[in-house]
Amino acid sequence: MVMRAIDVRDLVDSPGSTKTVRVDEAVEGLHTELAEVSGDQRLSGDLTLESVVDGVYATGTIRGTMALRCARCLKEFTQPFDVEMHELFPLRPGPEDDYELGEDLTLDPEQMVRDSVVLSMPFSPLCRPDCLGLCPRCGGDRNLGECTCSEEVVDPRWAGLEQLFRDP
Ligand SMILES: [Zn+2]
Ligand SMILES: [Zn+2]
Repeated sequence: MVMRAIDVRDLVDSPGSTKTVRVDEAVEGLHTELAEVSGDQRLSGDLTLESVVDGVYATGTIRGTMALRCARCLKEFTQPFDVEMHELFPLRPGPEDDYELGEDLTLDPEQMVRDSVVLSMPFSPLCRPDCLGLCPRCGGDRNLGECTCSEEVVDPRWAGLEQLFRDP
C-alpha cells in the first residue's frame, strides 16, 4: 500500500501558512532483523505542514505498534511506538536533501515515515531489561528456569574456555 500524497499548492502560494493533515495508513516493508511493523497495520498521526521560502516543513508524530523479537531469548513481543519527524521538502532539492516536493506540488510523506520508523527500531530489542536469555549450552530459556545444566559445577580451569563458546 502506498501513502496518499498531500496537495500543498495552497501552502506554496502563501509562505508562512500552515495546515495539519491526518495520516492513517499502512506502509509495507517496515522491518529490520528483529523488528517489524506489519504491512496491514495502520500508522496514524498528525502532520503539520508549514510553508517556508524554499519549500514545506513537515512536522509530526506517527504512532503504531511494532513486533519485536528479543535479542537474548528470541521471544516475540509487541511494543507501541511513536516517532517524531521534522523534515524539509524543498521545491528545488539539492544533493543533500533527502526529500522533495512533487512537480505537481504534492508532498508524499511515505519515504519520510518509512525512514523515521525504521530508524526508530531497536537494534537489540529485549523482552524485559533483565531478560536472562537462552542457555548457551542447552538452549533452555533461563527466564522460565528451564535450564538445569547450569547446576553443574564448572571446573575453574575450564571457565575461561567456556567463555569463548558463549555468544560473541
Ligand atoms: Zn528475552
Ligand atoms: Zn542449560
